[in-house]
Amino acid sequence: GVALDLPDKRVDSVCPYCGVGCQLTYNVKDNKILFVEGRDGPANHGRLCVKGRYGFDYAHHPQRLRTPLIRREGMPKTGDFTMDPDRVLEVFREATWDEALALAGGSLKRIRDTRGKHALAGFGSAKGSNEEAYLFQKLVRTGFGSNNVDHCTRLCHASSVAALLEGIGSGAVSNPVMDVTQAEVVIVIGANPTVNHPVAATWIKNAVRAGTKLIVCDPRRSDLERHAHRYLQFKPDTDVAMLNAMMHVIVTERLVDQDFIASRTIGYEELEKNVAGYSPEAMAPICGIDAETLRYVARLYATSKGSMILWGMGVSQHVHGTDNARCLIALALMTGQVGRPGTGLHPLRGQNNVQGASDAGLIPMMYPDYQRVDNPAAQAKFEQAWGVKLDPKPGLTVVEIMDAIDAGAIRGMYIMGENPAMSDPDANHARAALASLEHLVVQDIFLTETAYLADVILPASAFAEKTGTFTNTDRLVQLGRQAIDPPGEARQDLWIIQQMACQLGLEWNYGHVSEVFDEMRRTMHSIGGITWDRLERDGAVVYPCVNEGDAGQPVVFTDDFPREDGRARFVPADIIPANERPDADYPLVLITGRQLEHWHTGSMTRRTAVLDALEPDPVALVHPLDLERMGVKPGEVITIESRRGKVALYARADDSSPAGAIFVPFCYYEAAINRLTNAALDPFGKIPEFKYCAIRATPGGEV
Ligand code: SF4
Repeated sequence: GVALDLPDKRVDSVCPYCGVGCQLTYNVKDNKILFVEGRDGPANHGRLCVKGRYGFDYAHHPQRLRTPLIRREGMPKTGDFTMDPDRVLEVFREATWDEALALAGGSLKRIRDTRGKHALAGFGSAKGSNEEAYLFQKLVRTGFGSNNVDHCTRLCHASSVAALLEGIGSGAVSNPVMDVTQAEVVIVIGANPTVNHPVAATWIKNAVRAGTKLIVCDPRRSDLERHAHRYLQFKPDTDVAMLNAMMHVIVTERLVDQDFIASRTIGYEELEKNVAGYSPEAMAPICGIDAETLRYVARLYATSKGSMILWGMGVSQHVHGTDNARCLIALALMTGQVGRPGTGLHPLRGQNNVQGASDAGLIPMMYPDYQRVDNPAAQAKFEQAWGVKLDPKPGLTVVEIMDAIDAGAIRGMYIMGENPAMSDPDANHARAALASLEHLVVQDIFLTETAYLADVILPASAFAEKTGTFTNTDRLVQLGRQAIDPPGEARQDLWIIQQMACQLGLEWNYGHVSEVFDEMRRTMHSIGGITWDRLERDGAVVYPCVNEGDAGQPVVFTDDFPREDGRARFVPADIIPANERPDADYPLVLITGRQLEHWHTGSMTRRTAVLDALEPDPVALVHPLDLERMGVKPGEVITIESRRGKVALYARADDSSPAGAIFVPFCYYEAAINRLTNAALDPFGKIPEFKYCAIRATPGGEV
């Protein structure tokens, strides 16, 4: 017979992948996760997607970092990254924690003391807990002495957050995903939830089955289109034209909510004047959607009892990402479709804790809870809380930090759990910049492409190896509980950050993770009422939860907006083209994104047996007409090239994108597509244009 492995321990926790924040249970035996089950959490009610259910065994992968590593003397930071564990020790030597921490912290301290506080920068992680994010930004602000701290929110929703803070005073969602079940109309724009927020997509499909009208707007067709009442396959890069045309209809047909505009907003006249120039007839040839459809969708959205908008990276990752989001906000405000259940604005947050990491201050212009570093009152508050003088100058963002390294201004970095060598735009440039640092410390669970360029590598803990809070896309603060121990000499991230802080001269002495959370509560109004005991008991509490005993508010802006005068602000937007348009040399458009089976730069899911078996090779999704033009059959290798780099990968026939646009997931280290992407930034959110750059594709190449 077959001996069944039965768990000796069941630990309730949360999924480590996406912002939906599904609750799950780890079934553990002998420090090994055997399997995962869905739990009845507020966001998932027992459901899990393929990543949540099968994506756990990366924690047990033989390539886990188990010992601190120090780069061998004279070993150049060049050459191709390797995942071969035997070759790791050609480049690095094993070290004790004492030696590694002294070198890592000591080198950064030397740079700070000799070159000044602005010569250092840190990237924290949206994969870490709220407590890790909070301590990491506190270390940079009080130990490095500057605000040069950022994380991957800069690469996903920075533009949405810029527009939301400006327009309605809060960067978080107004309503939870589950509100789609109460909405009459749901617009999903620039997002592919079936792939990137799979359990959220199931709630959308359930809503459709119960009668909700789903409008999907995306240049790339996704699975959700099959469930849509209308699908608007607008031309890439024309969001503002399409959305302004809809607003034009709402204004000219007097479908605006005049009471809402009068009592709760400012700046409407300016918006009305601006959209007057965007008739559906004039915009139809630009965005590729006929005028009648634009009119129909605008009427439907404006006149329903409850309309909700959810959006993703297709909106945000453009040089006009902030303008795209401004249009969505204006659409909701002019029709009063916000502030009630089944309405509102929901930027679908990507990483499991990108909301929480941003809330905790892992951004260069804000202290925790979005208190601006250049606001003297906020500075005084945190100086008192942390007992040190703080720098009032906003820090640099992710891509700006790479440019500052180039310019010689930044000489040392501490990167925790992020992989900019894969995730940054123009990755060849990012890698060269990281390699040129005087000192790079990387804290991670695998030898990532970024760790490969480090001077010191600190082996950290995987999600299931630690306890902490994580905030999902719905503003739900949830408890992730430790299920297994880290392997070998690997340590918990909270311990490592504190050791690094000590090396920089800070005297920290946090014991249990709840002590960090308690400090956060004291400085963050929005979570002030959430106690650790309640998290232990309930597992999840939604913020704002200001006072102990408050229920928490899943739907916000019911009476006013958190701006000075309580009113939201319309901000008009005009068409700004992509930074790099196709031309004779580079005639195609590259769109980057994710796949259902893999997570971001692939460091976890490509080391997960089931997920990697499902999608093992780097692929480009190419329209059959483009394949035919190239004389390439599906499955053959093609080479894609931009002005910044080239990669070879397998061509897959796929007509989701229009002919002329190629889609490539960014998770494959063998064909790191961000070598090709454009680092041009949105001026407000400082987000790069991952969703549009000019490329050419040719048959052949070597994967
Ligand atoms: Fe995890 Fe997101 Fe899938 Fe839920 S939907 S199981 S949170 S990856």
